[in-house]
Amino acid sequence: MTDYLKRRNFLAGLAALGAAPSLSVSAVTSAGKRTGVKITKVEMLRVTAKGGRKVLYLKLHSDAGVAGLYGPIDNEAALMVDQFFKRRLIGADPLASEAFWDRMFRASRHSRGSHYLMGLSAVDNALWDLKGRLLGLPVYRLLGGERRKVRAYASCLGFSQEPAALQAKARELKAEGYRHQKWFVRDRGPSHGPAGVVEDAKVVRLLREAVGDDVDLMFDAFWQWDLQYALAWTRRVEQYNPRWIEEPFQTANLDAFIELSRETSIPVATGEHFYSRWDVHKFLKADAIMVVQADPEWCGGVSELVKMCTLASVHGVNVIPHGHSIHAAMHVVASQPVKVCPLVEYLIQKMRSYYHVEKHPPRPVNGMLDLPDRPGFGIELDESKIEDIRPVSWQQQ
Ligand SMILES: [Mg+2]
Repeated sequence: MTDYLKRRNFLAGLAALGAAPSLSVSAVTSAGKRTGVKITKVEMLRVTAKGGRKVLYLKLHSDAGVAGLYGPIDNEAALMVDQFFKRRLIGADPLASEAFWDRMFRASRHSRGSHYLMGLSAVDNALWDLKGRLLGLPVYRLLGGERRKVRAYASCLGFSQEPAALQAKARELKAEGYRHQKWFVRDRGPSHGPAGVVEDAKVVRLLREAVGDDVDLMFDAFWQWDLQYALAWTRRVEQYNPRWIEEPFQTANLDAFIELSRETSIPVATGEHFYSRWDVHKFLKADAIMVVQADPEWCGGVSELVKMCTLASVHGVNVIPHGHSIHAAMHVVASQPVKVCPLVEYLIQKMRSYYHVEKHPPRPVNGMLDLPDRPGFGIELDESKIEDIRPVSWQQQ
């Protein structure tokens, strides 16, 4: 086959995927080679919605005329993108995102956590979006996935815990199709003594009575407990069969996680503050948890969360990403076997308005989220909802 015919077939293939209209010929030919596309400009866009709310998106322009977009991103990530990653991205090959991640992880002696990895997460996710747009494929397909829907669990932060309201909301969510609900037991703790344990166990009983046995119930203690309190609570509530107890302690306290996991039949979960695969490895080799809750906005991005899934699969542990945001999380979950990634977190109250400047905010129907057919993460800003959009530095955000 001549080069011309090969290129024409390649273009036809992309057109069938619905991608060709957004791609120039040079983009297509570049994407088909081993290298060729370069990042030409990095912008942090401050998007001001009608009504005044402001959010940041990261945009990576390329010389193929196609740009990657990811957001909303956190202020801490914006600081690092602006001050550190921006100039290192110029000229980088977006198809070589793994190589870029590795270079950046070795580019600073402070790369192992916190703001640095939040910034690298934003960059990595925007690179995956750009790769998807260059190739005309959604990210979960690039990652090797085939699931077109993922199951979401209802994350119930902010709802009333007054008994009648608690039970009514739990029944309502069950009727909406959520087979899994997570509730928060973070308002009491060791300083409340035995009465606190009784109250926190009562929440579990009320919910089990409300939803019956065919809904999974999870509980998040938001770091508020110590080992004795956690042991007392788990002994009282094992009879109600919770699916997991989340973050009874801060993630720094590995020994307490190990001890609690040894002493209770309730699976223990943590990980929204895991940074990189090495944090996960420490917990898994110590049999400290049964659910890894790393967040692709914080842990190092899609690239790192996928590696965590591989590690978890070796240990027979689930990865159910934290729901700070959901674009990257749902694509990684859809790319993995359901045994490894059965669920994605959907924070009901936060997600109502979190994507307020986007055309397609992810919303579960009957407890399921649809993966978009659009390339990349499928994020499109909605001009009709936007007052102003402009590139800013992190100081101006
Ligand atoms: Mg949590």
